[in-house]
Amino acid sequence: MGVALGGVRGSGLADHPAGDRLIGPRFRDVGGILLAADLDSLSRDEIDTTQQHNLSATLTAARQSTDVWKRFPGLETVATVGDLQTLPLLSPSDLAAGCPPHSADLLFDPRTSGLVLRSSGTASRPKTVYHSWDFTERVGLLGVRGVRAALETPPTRVANCLFAGDLNGAFLFVHDITRCLPALVFPMGENTSPAEAAAIIEAHGIDTLVASPAYGTELLTSGRDGHPLPVRNFLFIGESMGPERSRLVRLAAPDVAVQSLAYSTSETGPLGYQCPHQTGAVHHLHEDANVVEVVDDAGRPVPSGTPGELVVTPLTTSGMALFRYRLGDRGRLLAGPCGCGSAARSVVLLGRMPNSMTIDTVTFSSDHLMSALRTLGVAKPSDCQFQVLWEGHRYRVRLLLSPAAPNGITTDMIRTALRDFHEVHEVIASPRCVAFEVQRAVTGQFARTRRGKVPVLYQHGVSS
Ligand SMILES: [Zn+2]
Repeated sequence: MGVALGGVRGSGLADHPAGDRLIGPRFRDVGGILLAADLDSLSRDEIDTTQQHNLSATLTAARQSTDVWKRFPGLETVATVGDLQTLPLLSPSDLAAGCPPHSADLLFDPRTSGLVLRSSGTASRPKTVYHSWDFTERVGLLGVRGVRAALETPPTRVANCLFAGDLNGAFLFVHDITRCLPALVFPMGENTSPAEAAAIIEAHGIDTLVASPAYGTELLTSGRDGHPLPVRNFLFIGESMGPERSRLVRLAAPDVAVQSLAYSTSETGPLGYQCPHQTGAVHHLHEDANVVEVVDDAGRPVPSGTPGELVVTPLTTSGMALFRYRLGDRGRLLAGPCGCGSAARSVVLLGRMPNSMTIDTVTFSSDHLMSALRTLGVAKPSDCQFQVLWEGHRYRVRLLLSPAAPNGITTDMIRTALRDFHEVHEVIASPRCVAFEVQRAVTGQFARTRRGKVPVLYQHGVSS
């Protein structure tokens, strides 16, 4: 990615009336998109002006691409950020249908060089995104800007414990951030065992750990032969920490600053970052680089402060064109300024839109399961995992409950509670289900996906 941290490489502002206000060392120009070196130093007016400038650059690039212009009818009437609301939403399945290798509809230029990523997710069809090198440079700039904003003590030695390979960008993202900070990087990946990682961290005095919440919690709570590690910062990414893991880390490593590395997706790059005043799922938005909206089920914007689905338009002139892309995350914009004084808006992430699982012909969602479990006092998705374990054409179902779930819940109680929730009940009552049982397990024993996420609904050895 090799993010250039020099001055502005070219103004790209010739035909923008407010352009002269934006030129200077405070901005970097990446393919005509202006990114603030420090978004928190901009006034609200400057943020809006930059965002509008970058939307105009995006629209100009879309107009020059026959494929993109055809794919998004209605773009001809869009000029301002507010006009984006007239466009239909782009769903993950729309993206899957319009992406390479079978389609070039969403590509600004099919001959672009760059970085190819595949999005994780529950959709049956993969979403492959062809990011340009300019886009990848933008991703790195936003990432390093986010880490600088999040940590009071900048990292000097970074353990990169994220998943590498499999067309996943997280590992490269951290690698590039570390290079730009600059800091010393230890590219461990997620396959290094926590015990081995702890030994390397101790031996080299590594001060910053970047890992999934599940891996980082396991590492920080087990330490090194019972002593705490020298880690000062834990940056997590991929999913939220959740109250139980946060509690365990606070208990084992009370002096470690725990912050989100970024709110980011493979398709869009970084969308949010944390300042030291923000914890948990609260993030500032990279508003110069994206337009984020919160919408209702019909795709209409909700009043500020109301929860809804997050939709994003990444501002870019190359790579993939995504207008009003549905992120599948729920969120709410926060009213009022943040304690850090930044004029950048903040969002609180409220979890994924309900995800679903299909067993034979029966489909049910995580929300459906949670409604059933709530009747027994299990309120948080992070306190349970519904596992379907295939054995040939039959399967076993195991419901794991964390220690934070109420005591005394038996398999029979769950079976009874599920009777009112037909689809989930059908899965455990099917003749193909050879066993159903409830087990207690600490969060570290919950199954993780290859990319380190802990899903509520989990299948192993999917049937043929
Ligand atoms: Zn802040």
